[in-house]
Amino acid sequence: MGEIVYGSVIADKMRADLREKIIKNKDQVTLAVILVGNDPASLSYVRGKEKACAQVGIQAKTYTCDQNITERELQALIKKLNNDSDIDGILVQLPLPKHINSTKVIQSISVAKDVDGLTVENVGRLYCKEPTFVPCTPLGIMAILNFLPIKLAGKHAVVVGRSELVGAPISRLLLEANATVTMCHSYTKDLSFYTKQADILIVAVGKPQFINAQDVKKDAVVIDVGVNRQANGKLCGDVNLASVLDKVAYITPVPKGVGPMTITMLLWNTYEAHQRRMR
Ligand code: NAP
Repeated sequence: MGEIVYGSVIADKMRADLREKIIKNKDQVTLAVILVGNDPASLSYVRGKEKACAQVGIQAKTYTCDQNITERELQALIKKLNNDSDIDGILVQLPLPKHINSTKVIQSISVAKDVDGLTVENVGRLYCKEPTFVPCTPLGIMAILNFLPIKLAGKHAVVVGRSELVGAPISRLLLEANATVTMCHSYTKDLSFYTKQADILIVAVGKPQFINAQDVKKDAVVIDVGVNRQANGKLCGDVNLASVLDKVAYITPVPKGVGPMTITMLLWNTYEAHQRRMR
């Protein structure tokens, strides 16, 4: 029977370590969070980030903007925060309303304050092995994998999904850890052929219970990134945990798997931005 790996437990330990550092060094770390409109899901994500910041002693300043804010006005706010010496990191809660070009808005965040690691320069730095901010979800996945008693070098890692936020950067990080990486996406023919070969299987698709026992290799390590809301209101992942648990070595659950690690890496990235600014 496989082991369920609770990212929430690893996250608690990493947050406690960070809190200790911040208290010991009397660091004044501040994260600016920009929320546009009143989408309940975005609001709930922002509240979660504020709570996590408070937990470790980071000050979260939330800037709530009207749903009808223009792209220019939003960029002007970001410019102001870029130049504010009290702000270490800037996060724009996505998605933004349709009339705003998210890419343009993200690109206006200063590279040094881009704690989500989404600006073109930070993405490029990741691929050139230069100091950067790595997006928080892939960073969280790597922290989970590094916590397990497994070696990544030489393993076959199969990543399902190729988004800029998850699939592409996690593939890069796994490659850097000397895994052999296969990337799959919606055009992949016979997906199961690939997933069945995975020693490490990362699934970031956004389809409930998309991966089942017949799609996984025996003793695989499975990281389920997907977050899907079911008809009963409960969350589930992209992997059918009940179906694969007997076959795999380790699997992260949804919720309490990758999600808490994503927020934890945001806290660490913000702290890193602060440290770099103070150097
Ligand atoms: P996304 O941008 O929508 O990307 C989904 C990816 O899945 C795309 O690359 C797509 O391929 C691929 N895909 C879709 N259908 C497929 C199929 N039938 N077979 C193989 N691949 C398929 O989503 P995302 O932002 O990466 O997020 C993925 C999931 O992770 C979502 O459920 C999201 O909520 C969750 N998520 C969780 C966290 C967390 O902290 N826990 C963070 C971020 C995201 P194409 O490129 O060909 O379209």
